[in-house]
Amino acid sequence: MAYKITPQMYEKIKHFARFPQTGVSLRQMVMFGQNPSQGTLLKATQFLADELPIRIAHRVKELDNLPHNLSEMPSIVRVKNWYAQSFEELINFPKPELPQSIRERLFATSNPSNPSTTIMSTATKLGHGYYSHVDDIDWPPEVRYYNEKFTKLIEAIKRRHDPVVTTVVSQGILEYKQHKKSTMIDTDIQSFLDRFYMSRIGIRILIGQHVALNRLPSRPDYVGIICTKTNIAKTVQEAVDNARFICEEYYGLFRAPEIQLYCPEELSFTYVPTHLNHMLFELLKNSLRALVELFGDDVDEYPTIKVIVAEGKEDITIKILDEGGGIPRSNIPLVWTYMYTTAEAQTLDPNFSQSDFKAPMAGFGYGLPLSRLYARYFGGDLKLISMEGFGTDVYLHLNRISNSDEPLH
Ligand code: ADP
Ligand code: MG
Repeated sequence: MAYKITPQMYEKIKHFARFPQTGVSLRQMVMFGQNPSQGTLLKATQFLADELPIRIAHRVKELDNLPHNLSEMPSIVRVKNWYAQSFEELINFPKPELPQSIRERLFATSNPSNPSTTIMSTATKLGHGYYSHVDDIDWPPEVRYYNEKFTKLIEAIKRRHDPVVTTVVSQGILEYKQHKKSTMIDTDIQSFLDRFYMSRIGIRILIGQHVALNRLPSRPDYVGIICTKTNIAKTVQEAVDNARFICEEYYGLFRAPEIQLYCPEELSFTYVPTHLNHMLFELLKNSLRALVELFGDDVDEYPTIKVIVAEGKEDITIKILDEGGGIPRSNIPLVWTYMYTTAEAQTLDPNFSQSDFKAPMAGFGYGLPLSRLYARYFGGDLKLISMEGFGTDVYLHLNRISNSDEPLH
């Protein structure tokens, strides 16, 4: 049966939405996650048990406050119910029953700003807001068991929310357009989507990181989902191979356009490799498509796409240059909106759970705006400059310092 919010739960959500969200930077995650003991993981569990309901409550409030009755569209209601259900599961998650001595060790101080009803609501959000290490003593088996149960819960929540982007954009906004008989997406909706997806990225990173720390045997150079030696050349090459493969499949080409990489071989930095891969993949697919659509699918050779990587003190910048004809200047603002595509629109099976990272060649229209959010999330940016009649340059700026604050609203 579909979940429905009860009025009591709704009140609780509104209450939680009054509390500020606590940001976590990439650097904090790296420092925290190195060889965590079960006790440290328990503190992280507690941090998330406090923080996730607050963040989720903020999302429900945003969905409620959407302009133009958009919040009443069936798909938006569906998405809101997912958030409410996850909220309820989190706040109903039982507290661990631990001996007093262990609890004292874990949580020496109490956090008065904590709205949750937890008996362990304590030091987790003090100081710089993120959790800290505790000694590697012999943690009783209950601690491991508790951590595992929580990990399972948030994994399931993350999965529930996989189709949020496609549901909101491809169905919710579509319903709205049909309802309004309008083809315009106003700036209110655009900035709502930017904010909403940005915070969704944050929630998913927190969950992804926690699950990885609890689950994966630690890999060399990795802290959870973060790689402290993300090699740029290798990551670009992977994205190049994937994008060319998809391009060949989609257009039935014998050989997709060539992509030449100019990058210091050893250049690496701290980043989430799956995010970098995703952004590059989206950008390269756009360039490949532009070339194939400009030159046709039966030419012997296309102009080569170039990927140039520059290493600065502050940024690593990846520039992608194609000679795919560019974009008319009047359309540039549109490419950053979530529905704009010049490809044939993809139809979606509403029962099919689409994650952000399984986009096809083109046609959803959110490759660019989502990639820009991923870039900005860790203090980077994405810029596009087109020379209509010639080609497009895309600049992906990645912040090397990795201690920029998490963008929270
Ligand atoms: P999609 O690829 O699904 O259409 P995107 O957000 O990735 O969505 O791109 C939106 C639109 O921007 C594309 O449909 C295309 O018209 C234009 N575009 C993006 N990148 C390029 C490029 N490198 N060259 C020409 N047009 C581009
Ligand atoms: Mg695209």
